Amino acid sequence: TLKDGDPLEEHQITVAVRKRPLNKKEQGKREIDVITIPKRNTMYVHEPRTKVDLTKFLENQNFRFDYAFDETCHNELVYKYTARPLVQTIFEGGMATCFAYGQTGSGKTHTMGGDFQGKSQDCAKGIYAMVAKDVFVYTKNPKYRNLNLQVSASFFEIYGGKVFDLLNSKTKLRVLEDGKNVVQVVGLQERVCQNVDDVLRLISLGSQVRTSGQTAANNQSSRSHAVFQIILRNLDRIEKQGDKAYKLHGKFSLIDLAGNERGADVSSANRQTRMEGAEINKSLLALKECIRALGRRGAHLPFRASKLTQVLRDSFIGDKSRTCMIAMISPGMNCCEHTLNTLRYADRVK
Ligand code: ADP
Ligand code: MG
Repeated sequence: TLKDGDPLEEHQITVAVRKRPLNKKEQGKREIDVITIPKRNTMYVHEPRTKVDLTKFLENQNFRFDYAFDETCHNELVYKYTARPLVQTIFEGGMATCFAYGQTGSGKTHTMGGDFQGKSQDCAKGIYAMVAKDVFVYTKNPKYRNLNLQVSASFFEIYGGKVFDLLNSKTKLRVLEDGKNVVQVVGLQERVCQNVDDVLRLISLGSQVRTSGQTAANNQSSRSHAVFQIILRNLDRIEKQGDKAYKLHGKFSLIDLAGNERGADVSSANRQTRMEGAEINKSLLALKECIRALGRRGAHLPFRASKLTQVLRDSFIGDKSRTCMIAMISPGMNCCEHTLNTLRYADRVK
């Protein structure tokens, strides 16, 4: 029996929806908020609610998720119910994955914490940083201290089906799969971190590299998936194959996905845009199938269908793997169609 206000500890897949507030520009245009997240009759003011309601404007558009966060919820609360319950997973030797899904401008980067404009330390308030903080709390926990674990981080981007290292000036990297289905991103930087500040520096570096040279018109980050990983390695054990690497104990992958509206670019007049749209479509479809298969033994995993699912293969196999998806939605009437697409996608993931 679940006590009100506690995260759902046992779920292998958690699906949450987060609605952002109307921004200044939208308010100025008197944009109408079409999303209702019904309040429950509860004493907990900040308890996430489960229903998302679009019926005000579209008939019979009602959805139910594990959690629904309205515009008053902050990153801290979203984190508590989505990624935080998964931190223990990687200490227990499993793989944890958290996806931010939604249209461009819906709040994916804001939630994850790659919101780094070069001045503010906004990234410290996002889920990447909160996971890092808890990881270092766990390393000091008597239960895990004796495992002698090393914490490191990687940060890369998948753009047009190619992998670029965000901790190494966007160097293009190859992805190899050996006979045992082990997928490796060759040459990916994995930086050892001694504390949270080390991780924050990498988040800010990678986020700046990701958005550098970008303008509103050429918003490349909306067309790429950013993958930030916190990796635990066992310093007492050396990997048998490979180059003397310490054995992988667990990995937390946090993914800021490409804007899902980009999938519609398949009908664009521009060939490049059209190809990017097709690639994004393909990867988001494959992702949905891979997550759905997580809870089902013997289900088909189409992870080779896209670079994204290929590099995350480890995360989709094994009983110890756990995933959460946070589907971000914009509240405005003019976003209705994309919002509906996002809700339908999130609905089908589970
Ligand atoms: P995305 O990464 O999905 O394209 P962003 O995270 O960049 O979207 O968000 C777009 C804008 O909206 C940013 O200026 C961001 O700070 C703001 N924003 C997003 N979510 C929220 C929120 N929950 N509360 C306040 N502002 C938000
Ligand atoms: Mg973004």
